[in-house]
Amino acid sequence: CGIVGYIGQNDSKNILLNGLEKLEYRGYDSAGIAVLNEDGVNLTKVKGRIATLKESVDASVHATMGIGHTRWATHGIPSIINAHPHQSTSGRFTIVHNGVIENYQDLKREYLTDVTFLSETDTEVIVHLIEKLYGQYQDTAEAFRQAMNLLKGSYAIGMIDAEDAETLYVSKNKSPLLIGLGEGFNVIASDAMATLKETDQYLEIYDKEIVLVGRNYVEIQKLDGTVVERQPYTAQIDA
Ligand code: GLU
Repeated sequence: CGIVGYIGQNDSKNILLNGLEKLEYRGYDSAGIAVLNEDGVNLTKVKGRIATLKESVDASVHATMGIGHTRWATHGIPSIINAHPHQSTSGRFTIVHNGVIENYQDLKREYLTDVTFLSETDTEVIVHLIEKLYGQYQDTAEAFRQAMNLLKGSYAIGMIDAEDAETLYVSKNKSPLLIGLGEGFNVIASDAMATLKETDQYLEIYDKEIVLVGRNYVEIQKLDGTVVERQPYTAQIDA
């Protein structure tokens, strides 16, 4: 299972698809990507191979930001519906997640009794929770932070807000995720191998940090919103 994300100047589809291909070694049963442009979010999901995903993606859609996912099913069978990305009811928030949310049933009972779930995944709870908290805070970064605060378990998460074409929302806990730094673009990846073609400059992120990733900036925050400074390292390119 793995995650790739891109925000920059170029078309994101091939960067995401090639990145997912590089993560195939981690194992997966389904895959998907979501890209955002002026027309909104364009979602493609398949059960099976990245090769199938490549064939299914609409080549005419041009979008300079997006997120991609390979799924290793833990909650719900491998299927197109359970494949990521998952979306909130309004369609505003779109998420990819690796890991297991241990308290997803508690969260569902406590905050989301009025929500219709489409999939059987633990992941879908996260995106509905963010939409619910957005209703309360009217601020995506704040809703994202508050949601991360409520999660128990392991996660690497990438999220798109359809109303904000300038930011990828990222967090992790006990699942791997890195930020790759470019000129006029940035990437996220479970493993630098997925995006070495784009950049060899990477920022480590620590458990429970929130990262706002734009085209020309990356801001790492603690769960309380405090900004953290960190220097990138150069990833070794071997064959
Ligand atoms: N627990 C999530 C699911 O079953 C994510 C699995 C993964 O890490 O790919 O959909």
